Amino acid sequence: MDTSAFLKSHIRTVPDWPAPGVQFRDITPLLQDPKVFRVLIDTFVHRYMDAALRPTVVAGLDARGFIIGSVLAYELGVGFVPIRKKGKLPFTTVEETYELEYGSATVELHTDAVRPGDRVVLIDDLIATGGTMMAGRRLLEKLGAEVTEGAAIVDLPELGGSEKLRASGLELFTLLDFA
Ligand code: 5GP
Repeated sequence: MDTSAFLKSHIRTVPDWPAPGVQFRDITPLLQDPKVFRVLIDTFVHRYMDAALRPTVVAGLDARGFIIGSVLAYELGVGFVPIRKKGKLPFTTVEETYELEYGSATVELHTDAVRPGDRVVLIDDLIATGGTMMAGRRLLEKLGAEVTEGAAIVDLPELGGSEKLRASGLELFTLLDFA
């Protein structure tokens, strides 16, 4: 079994959560088994250890992006910065609002989290419509950083997010998809 199929076999699909008709892709089994967790993290580490792709900062999206992003940053020997849902960060922030299927969401980043010249890998567990990752990228760019790649464990290509992100010029690295 290749890495992608191995990791995929440890994702649990929960029907009708958080709403009827939604098939939620639950990544917690990937984290729970230490051998699987190591394969998961090492896959990202191997990619971003490469001199050409090595970031100066890893930015993680609230909340599962924190789990994988912080371990990745630690292994790469670079800093980690959290992009959080509005109202959680204590210092001065920049913010971005984006549209959801019903309503909107706002994410924030501390104004001193990154600097011009930083090369950032922006990471989350999953890309659906791509709105969350797009908003995170805009926050980092507002502060003058360059997002060299967006990374996620799972892509849901049928929702169009990864295609939209790539069309906007963002490089993407995802480990597996559910079509
Ligand atoms: P998007 O903004 O791309 O539509 O949605 C992606 C965001 O919603 C990510 O932060 C992700 O954690 C969360 N998300 C949406 N659907 C799922 C899902 O099925 N499984 C998981 N693990 N996260 C999801």
